[in-house]
Amino acid sequence: MIRLTRYFPLLFLPVWHSIEIDRRVRQFCRIVSESLEEVTWSLNSNWKDYFDNQTHDISTEWNWTAHWHYLNNINKSRCDNFDTNNTLINFIKSSNNLLPTVDNLRKRNDIYDDVPCPACRDHEETLNHLVICTGLEQAFLTAEKETIDKIRKYLKRFKCKKSVTINELYISIFEYRDPAFPELKQRNRQELLRGLISHTIVKKLRKLTSKRIASLLSLKIIKYFHEAFRKHVWKPRCKMMNELEESLHITHQDKCKTSRTHKEDAETQRDHYRHTLTAFREQKASKYNEGLRRCKDHLYRLVTTGLLPPWKSRKITVQHKNNNNNNNNKKNYDK
Ligand SMILES: [Zn+2]
Repeated sequence: MIRLTRYFPLLFLPVWHSIEIDRRVRQFCRIVSESLEEVTWSLNSNWKDYFDNQTHDISTEWNWTAHWHYLNNINKSRCDNFDTNNTLINFIKSSNNLLPTVDNLRKRNDIYDDVPCPACRDHEETLNHLVICTGLEQAFLTAEKETIDKIRKYLKRFKCKKSVTINELYISIFEYRDPAFPELKQRNRQELLRGLISHTIVKKLRKLTSKRIASLLSLKIIKYFHEAFRKHVWKPRCKMMNELEESLHITHQDKCKTSRTHKEDAETQRDHYRHTLTAFREQKASKYNEGLRRCKDHLYRLVTTGLLPPWKSRKITVQHKNNNNNNNNKKNYDK
């Protein structure tokens, strides 16, 4: 009992959503606010699908550690010059489907309604199309080659037992290069653009090198691929877009517009607005409820099993200590 008061000095039991908080209150509040923030992120339209379809364990799919490590490497105190800042912004945009592709531009400017993909001028431009666009295929191949070259150079630092051939690297990192899986091209590139590496790739790299080198490599692959994508694919694509805009007489002034104009009369517009507003409110309420439900699940899982959601892997080492503390707390309660 002495120990219990040491860890839990309150004389009453705080309750949150009918859950009794019988442990450190400040720590609990921190976990709740952190988890609410993360749940909000998981509801973001670009990531939502992955968290909604949780019929399978998503931890088996991607190596999240590499994703968070790369983000940390170019974020916060490490982001101290314009170059890093540009890389960070571009990475956040490409991993959240916020790059100014034509479909995204249309959301705020109707002048792009009839603008096709600037590279092939034959399809609608979305991020999904960008990775398989015929007009950018050569650029992607160059970006992939540069990634592989840099990875090979990086590998030379380590004394690997067996030498890794360029073909083995290609097949492991860009799985679609394997004649058995040509259909993986779109998915493979999309995942790399999002800054995600599948566990299958990591397993293959482990076989070629070692566990330690494979985890270092996953981080480097994301870094090198993203840099090469920006240099060889995105910048030339922007140049093509400028040329297309010029040929369509889209002026700088047109581009500055930030809201879509409606061609309908005022009354229809008002109806449309009311309808959208109601739909928006309903959507917001359902999102909020879903967020709270996920947050509760997350906390329940954390308290009962000490397990974190797989996408939070970056904090596992820190949390293990906390879990041990929690276990100690439990033991003390038992006494
Ligand atoms: Zn295209």
